[in-house]
Parts: sequence; C-alpha cells; structure tokens
Amino acid sequence: MYQPTDSHSSINSVCLILPFHNEEENLYDFVTDLIGHFKSSPVRLDILLVDDGSTDNSLSIAKTLSRHHTCVEFISFSRNFGKETAIIAGLSECGDKFDAVAYMDSDGQHSAKDLAKLIESAQDPNIDLTCGVRSDREYQTPSQRLLANAFYVLFKRISHASIDKGAGDFNVLKMNVVKSIRLMHEQHPFMKGIIGWVGFRKRLIPIHIHSRTTGTAKSSTWKMLKLAFSAILSFSAWPLRAWSAIGATSAIIAVAYLSIIVIDTILRGRDIPGYASTVVLLLGIGGLQLLSIGIVGEYVARIYDASKNRPRYIIAQKSSKKEIK
Ligand code: UDP
Ligand code: MG
Repeated sequence: MYQPTDSHSSINSVCLILPFHNEEENLYDFVTDLIGHFKSSPVRLDILLVDDGSTDNSLSIAKTLSRHHTCVEFISFSRNFGKETAIIAGLSECGDKFDAVAYMDSDGQHSAKDLAKLIESAQDPNIDLTCGVRSDREYQTPSQRLLANAFYVLFKRISHASIDKGAGDFNVLKMNVVKSIRLMHEQHPFMKGIIGWVGFRKRLIPIHIHSRTTGTAKSSTWKMLKLAFSAILSFSAWPLRAWSAIGATSAIIAVAYLSIIVIDTILRGRDIPGYASTVVLLLGIGGLQLLSIGIVGEYVARIYDASKNRPRYIIAQKSSKKEIK
C-alpha cells in the first residue's frame, strides 16, 4: 500500500498526458506549440500522447512527433476506451521519474499559457493538486450548461466527492496524488469525481477555454448525460437507497387512501371506484417497480464488470523509446 509522503518542494519535471481521439487537424500544431512554449522554461516538460483508438491519421502524427522530439512518447489503445480511461492510462503508464503529472485536452481548447500558470502555482510545497477551473462557459450550449450545473449540485449532495464549479480535465497533480489515483481500480473512471474523492490540498486556478477551431467535439448532450449517470453510479449508493424512501412514501399514501375509501364507504354507502384511477395506479406502481429493478440492475452490472476484472484498456502500440511498462 502506498504511503503518502510530503509533496516535493519544487517541480523541475512534468509529464503532460494528452489524450486524443481523431484529432488529426489539431495534434501536430498543438503539440509543437506546447514544446515551443516550454523550450525556455526551467521546468522540463515531457509529453505522453495517449491515442484513444483514433481511426483517422492522428496516430501517425503522434508517431512523427515522437520521432522528431525526444520529449514526446506515445501509447496507442487497441480501440476507443474513452477519454477518462485514456487519462487513467496516462497516469498509470507515465512512470515515477517526474515531480508532477499534468493532463489537458489535446484539441487546442486548453492553452499552453494556462498550463504554465498551473505548473507555476503547483510549485507551492503546500499544494498537491492544481486544478484549472473555467472562468467562462461560452463554449457550452445553454442546455448543456443547465444540465452541468444540475449535475454538480446533485453529485455534491449524494456522493462523498464534490466537484468544484467549472472544474474540467485540466490539472497538475504531484506524485503523491498520482500514486493514490493508481490505487483506484474503477472500471468506469470519472476523473472529476476521482479528483474530488482523493482529497489532498487543492488550489483552483481560473483558466480560459478556447473554442474549437478545427475538428469536431466528441462530447454531446447525450454523451454528457451518460457520463453523469455513470458518475453517480460510481460515486453514490443514493439511487439504491432512494427506493426505500419511495416505497415507504407510496405505502403511506396507499394506507391513507385506503382509510379514505373505508370512511367514505361507511359514511356514504358503497364506493364504486373508476377504472381510470385503478389503471393509473397499476401502471404507476408497475412503472416504479420496473424502474427500481432497473437501477438495481445498473449496480449489479457494475459488480459483474468489476468481478470480471478485465484490464481497463489495452495498449496495442507504444513508442519504442518508452521505458515504461
Ligand atoms: N477524447 C478522447 N477520447 C474520446 C473522446 C475525446 O481521448 O473518446 C479527447 C479529445 O481528442 C480531446 C479531449 O478528449 O482531446 C476532449 O474531447 P472533446 O473536445 O470531444 O470534448 P469537450 O471539449 O467538448 O468536452
Ligand atoms: Mg474539446
């Protein structure tokens, strides 16, 4: 078991994890700009490109970058496992020789300038985790913004991990945090939740999210909803427990309604209930029961997934100079 130690007093080397999926329009320029930005920096920046099953030309661009720059390495998944898993893979595969590990998007929406700002702030020995938080949200549609806000409020209420407002996947973690995350074996990792769950001493730094200039976003409202649902299942048993409260409430309502019918029958003669109310009640209760079984099923599916103990990702290729696993 990893025993946390004090954070390093200063950061001299950082491994930057860049997950990508079909980013052929962005990757080359983005990575070369980053390298250029950190050329004169006292902090050495190494880059680990994580190809999340791209089907376009991105992998060959990653290979070219790795050939041209000694500081660039890559790993490539056998298929698309999702951005969250790509970040987990980066954190697991980057090795232990760095003072800190950072991760950000590789589509150009996160900037090298903000990364430098985060690393500068992470130099504080009293800070373990430096998190970029959006200072603006123009790039989201109003419905996505509403959903995201509702999700963060709900998540905070029903889980042990809270997500900071505006938090994204743009963070600098010292090695004590990285090593703690490596101990987590989530089959469905949700990075924002993991960052909230591990704790440690955190500092939030406002960052600017640029709009995508090229390529297409892989996230959609539907994907966001799926991720939010999966995150709640991963971090809270509340959806299971809620059914006890819902069951108890409907039982109380049923007893109260029964009393009303009995009293009404005694006082005003025999009551002839309508078909409509019976059908509505039957359908309503039946629907609730199926929904509750469905929620239990979701948790059972996760137990099933965990019991299979499959690897969370499969690496099909990696740069030849890579000394990691
Ligand atoms: N990404 C990934 N795997 C996926 C989807 C996305 O590695 O299955 C990468 C993508 O290439 C980008 C980052 O995750 O570098 C953010 O993705 P995207 O721009 O689609 O999301 P958004 O910025 O809209 O949240
Ligand atoms: Mg993006």
